Amino acid sequence: MKTKIKQIVLENNLNYCLECGKCSAVCPMLDFYGEYVYDRSPRGVVERLSLDPEDIEDEEGLWYCLVCHECTFFCPSGVNFQGFMTELRELLLQHGYRNHAVFCHACGSYLMPKKEFENFQKILEGGKTGELLSVCQRCKKNSYVETLYKLALWPKAKR
Ligand code: SF4
Ligand code: SF4
Repeated sequence: MKTKIKQIVLENNLNYCLECGKCSAVCPMLDFYGEYVYDRSPRGVVERLSLDPEDIEDEEGLWYCLVCHECTFFCPSGVNFQGFMTELRELLLQHGYRNHAVFCHACGSYLMPKKEFENFQKILEGGKTGELLSVCQRCKKNSYVETLYKLALWPKAKR
């Protein structure tokens, strides 16, 4: 796993960072979570993992990013933080780091970070919206197709 982390650090250019801080300046995490924590910010994560790719002790800090692409778009040095985060989380999940993630209630596939999910629920005041959030797009589509199928058969069954 450690070799693989090193590989994705290099593949996504984390070592090209100029320490300009633009990524943290445009990152929406501050507005979304209501607080700024350097260790969770793109600048903080890039600094830590480009110096020591094996430093995943504060694993929770790696599950706040919203993978929105803003930092990657504005980075003057080609650091692909969004791509890095996506690949790193896939790797963490493959190696059993599942505590900070939420999975689709219908099929069990990875949905989003737990902090992001909880914050969405808080913002949207839970209830029905919370239930809808906890199912992935594919399962929502399947359930929609099943409903359409049932509706298509229903009139025939009544005949
Ligand atoms: S915007 Fe790019 S170069 Fe600047 S601190 Fe962030 S990752 Fe580094
Ligand atoms: S991809 Fe993550 S770190 Fe980058 S701007 Fe979006 S939320 Fe912030």
